[in-house]
Amino acid sequence: MTISQAQLDGEACVVCGASEGFLIPAGYFFAPDGGGGRRSWAVVACPKERRPKL
Ligand SMILES: [Zn+2]
Repeated sequence: MTISQAQLDGEACVVCGASEGFLIPAGYFFAPDGGGGRRSWAVVACPKERRPKL
């Protein structure tokens, strides 16, 4: 999947990309850091997307 910088920054819904309205914490998005480890970002989602698939 692709994820935008705004989504990584918790400024847009990680599922649909909406940046307006009420956004709730949706857990963490993990991605390889290129050095054998991985980075994590706290992401948010619209309330209607209670179980975003990351
Ligand atoms: Zn959404």
